[in-house]
Amino acid sequence: MGTKGREIVGEYVDRVLELLNKAFAEEWLAYYQYWIGAKVVQGPMKDAIIAELLQHAADELRHADMVSNRIIQLGGTPLTNPKQWFEWAHCGYAAPDDPFVRTILEQNISGEQCAINTYNSFIQEIGMKDPVTYNIAVQILQDEVEHEEDLQSLYEDLGIFLKK
Ligand code: FE
Ligand code: FE
Ligand code: MG
Repeated sequence: MGTKGREIVGEYVDRVLELLNKAFAEEWLAYYQYWIGAKVVQGPMKDAIIAELLQHAADELRHADMVSNRIIQLGGTPLTNPKQWFEWAHCGYAAPDDPFVRTILEQNISGEQCAINTYNSFIQEIGMKDPVTYNIAVQILQDEVEHEEDLQSLYEDLGIFLKK
């Protein structure tokens, strides 16, 4: 932990750490939802959809890494037990029990929309109280916005495909 780097966050450190650990929990659940979804998905355009799901899984894992590095930088501890992911995450987890492409895409689109809300309110609340965390949250938000768009494009293509 860098003392000056932590000092500039001042009295907000505990709240920033709380928000970061919530985001950390959500990223792991998002990672697993994509990863397992890519394993079980079935239906038209499967190959294109698997490729996108795996790309997003890798992005979510990278986000968990970015967030945990910031937690450690601020002197906190990333959640150490996966059980805590469900207690801390606001977005939760949608199990791909129906493996049909449309259902999996719908679940992941909802997940991305929730992630966009999480990071947007995170950014609004933190603002320039902690510019380093702010910058990380903005970078992640950019990815989540891209994820939503990627999935919605696939969903639209799939709509056309299913009509034929
Ligand atoms: Fe993410
Ligand atoms: Fe995402
Ligand atoms: Mg993508």
